[in-house]
Amino acid sequence: MRIEQDIKLGFKDVMIRPKRSTLKSRSEVSLVREFTFLHSKFSWSGIPIMAANMDTVGTFEMSKVLSKHQMFTAIHKHYLIEEWKFFADNSNESIFDYVSVSTGIGKSDLKKLEQVLEQVPQLKFICIDVANGYSEHFVDFVKKVREKFPSKTIMAGNVVTGEMVEELLLAGADLIKVGIGPGSVCTTRIKTGVGYPQLSAIIECADAAHGLGGQIISDGGCAVPGDLSKAFGAGADFVMLGGMLAGHDESGGEQIEVNGNTYKEFYGMSSKTAMDKHQGGVADYRASEGKAVRVPYRGAVEETIKDILGGIRSTCTYVGAKRLKELTKRTTFIQVSEQENRIYTE
Ligand code: 5GP
Repeated sequence: MRIEQDIKLGFKDVMIRPKRSTLKSRSEVSLVREFTFLHSKFSWSGIPIMAANMDTVGTFEMSKVLSKHQMFTAIHKHYLIEEWKFFADNSNESIFDYVSVSTGIGKSDLKKLEQVLEQVPQLKFICIDVANGYSEHFVDFVKKVREKFPSKTIMAGNVVTGEMVEELLLAGADLIKVGIGPGSVCTTRIKTGVGYPQLSAIIECADAAHGLGGQIISDGGCAVPGDLSKAFGAGADFVMLGGMLAGHDESGGEQIEVNGNTYKEFYGMSSKTAMDKHQGGVADYRASEGKAVRVPYRGAVEETIKDILGGIRSTCTYVGAKRLKELTKRTTFIQVSEQENRIYTE
C-alpha cells in the first residue's frame, strides 16, 4: 500500500483568477475549435461540448438541436438498427460530424456496432464506453475496432490517469474519455471507493494525451456553466454533459407529475433502473453503480445551451481569451475553500 501525498482537486476546489483583457464584449469570443484527430485524420470544427451517451441525454432529438450549434451528441447504444436507419434517412449529411454511435465491449455489442455502421456508413465517430477503462480486454477491443474501422474517429474511456490515456491512444483511440466517479448520478465512489477528483484528472490526462497528439473529453461532474470553463481551463479538449442536459424536451426519460410539478426521469447507465430496462435486471455478481433521480422539467434545451455558452464566453472575457483555444494558456486557478454565496438558494 502507498499513499500519494499531493492533493488532487475537483471543480469545487478552485476558481479562475481574472486577468487584464483587451476584449470589450463576450460577442468577440469564439468557442469554435478545430482538431485533426490522431488516427482517423478527420478534421473537425465545432463547439467541443458533448451530450453524454445516456438514454436520458444522448438522444436523436438532442443531437438535432445541439448540431445546429455545432455541438456533439454521443448517441446512446440502445437504439435499434431500424431507428438508426430512420434517423439517417431523415437527417442532413452534416449531422454526422456531430454524432457518434456508442458501444460497450461485449460480443453482441461488436456485432451491433458492425450492423449499425453497415446500415449507416455516414457515421464518422464511434464511442467505446465502459465504466472501468483499465482492463486489458477493453484495450484489445479498442485495437480490434481500430483495425476494422481505420477511418472512423474513436472515442474511448473512461480512465483518469496519464499512463492509461497513452495506452488507449496507442491502441488506436483518437479521443480519451476522462472521469471515474464525478457524474451526477454516479455512485462508483460510494460503492467502490475508487475515483479521482475531476480537475486533477483533466490536468494530468490532457498532458499525457497532448504529448502524443491525442485529445481528451472531460466526462462528468459539471453542475454549472463555470465548471465547463474550469474543465476547458484545465486542458480538456471536449466536455461531456449528462445532468446539465437532462430534464428537457429533447432528453429521454418519462415525464412525471407530482403535486402539480413536472419532472423528468434521469438515471445512471449502471443504475438498477437502467439495468432493469436494458439488461433484464442487475446481475447477481455486481452492484449497481448509478442512481435514478427526478429532475425538474426544464422545457427546450435551447435556453440551457445559451446559458452554458454565454457563461463560457464570459469566462473568456474575464481572462482575455479571444478564442476557446486560448483559455487553458490564460487560466490561473486559485485554490479556494468557498464557492458561491448560497444565502438565497437554500
Ligand atoms: P454528469 O454530467 O451527469 O455529471 O455525468 C455524466 C457522466 O456520468 C456520463 O457521461 C458517464 O460517464 C457517467 N455515468 C452515467 N451513468 C453512470 C452510472 O450509472 N454510473 C457511473 N459510475 N457513471 C455514470
